[in-house]
Amino acid sequence: MNLKSIYGNFVCDEVFEYGERILKGLKGRFECIDEIAEYNQQKVLKAMQDAHVGEASLGGTSGYGYNDIGRDAVELTYAKAFGTEDALVRPQIICGTHALTVALSGNLRPGDELLYISGMPYDTLHEVIGIREARGSLADYGVSFDCAELTDDGHFDYEAIKNKIKPNTRLIGIQRSRGYSTRPTLSVEEIGDVIDYVKRLKPDVKVMVDNCYGEFTETIEPSQRGADMIVGSLIKNPGGGLAPVGGYIAGTKECVENASYRLSAPGLGKELGPTLGLNKNFLQGFFLAPTVTAGAEKGAIFAAAVYEKLGYSVNPSSDAPRYDIIQAVTFNDPDAVIAFCRGIQAAAPVDSYVVPEPWDMPGYDDPVIMAAGAFVSGSSIELSADGPMRAPYTVYFQGGLTFYHAKMGILMSLQRLCDAGIVDKSRLCSL
Ligand SMILES: *Cc1c(COP(=O)(O)O)cnc(C)c1O
Repeated sequence: MNLKSIYGNFVCDEVFEYGERILKGLKGRFECIDEIAEYNQQKVLKAMQDAHVGEASLGGTSGYGYNDIGRDAVELTYAKAFGTEDALVRPQIICGTHALTVALSGNLRPGDELLYISGMPYDTLHEVIGIREARGSLADYGVSFDCAELTDDGHFDYEAIKNKIKPNTRLIGIQRSRGYSTRPTLSVEEIGDVIDYVKRLKPDVKVMVDNCYGEFTETIEPSQRGADMIVGSLIKNPGGGLAPVGGYIAGTKECVENASYRLSAPGLGKELGPTLGLNKNFLQGFFLAPTVTAGAEKGAIFAAAVYEKLGYSVNPSSDAPRYDIIQAVTFNDPDAVIAFCRGIQAAAPVDSYVVPEPWDMPGYDDPVIMAAGAFVSGSSIELSADGPMRAPYTVYFQGGLTFYHAKMGILMSLQRLCDAGIVDKSRLCSL
């Protein structure tokens, strides 16, 4: 079989062969990822069987959505897989930011303080919390905010956390993934240890983990190490590429119930919410999520190895432990960020002919260039890349429903860098 001939439709021989040499060195690493995926596959299977998922669970409801047995099966499946008492998994939750907003506003009251202990939260939460002034923010409703930065090497600063916990600190927020920063992603173990610590300091404090991009990268989730709530988006890892919308909040009965009164209305809570025929997508996507996440993770490692060898700063490095599917590559050059994203776009199954440009996205401080040719608009478990147009010009790459597609995206990004004269193609042969 001649792989090179099919790749010849997309990239030059030098780029293809460089990629093959890189891949040879990643075999052992990929085996470890496959093992985690295998464990998680059986974990999800067990959860579905224990939740009694049946053919009748695959249907849906409309209108009020009373007695939606499929919805109950979806939520029970999430709760069982993530080791929580309950879960809210709904198509009415539009995205991760929305899920986090529902979780926060449902569990905080005027006078309470929200303390983030993993440094400043993800950009889109700044308006939600009111760090950046915004109408309807938590600050508008009398909820204050404080933040303990991570240490310089990216770990929890126990001393700073201790000093920031006040009598009115009601909820502690931890962001597992790096988001748009180059700090390391936090492991479940590290998160678990800090949860033990804050609960010793203040036993009644609740801990919420922003779990976006972290699901299924390890064999347990932060909810299994003491988090009261874990929150994420279904157009990232747990939707497996098949959920067309949605978000989840999994956690204690109390936290999930509090959130449910915000998602629907006080008094209504979880009892309402039509699933509009999406239960099957949610269940099937969750079933595939462990292997889809593994493919995306392999793509991220491949990207790290490809750009590391070319001398770029990558985060995490190709041999570092990984707890999410995001790969940051720092180019120190806006043109390289643009070329990279255009290569990812050109590798897409949908909209491959579109040329991405930087734009002022709602919720973000700087213009952002985004590459996404996805079946689900905005899905970042599908192959995608984005780079805020600010120094040091770092691009964040993630997703790929299959490893082979992620591989193609990376090779095409490199091809575009060669075409733009940023990387010297003839150099590839000697690496
Ligand atoms: C993606 C993400 C979010 C939410 O983003 P949405 O685009 O609203 O889904 C929040 N936190 C982190 C760490 C994320 O990666």
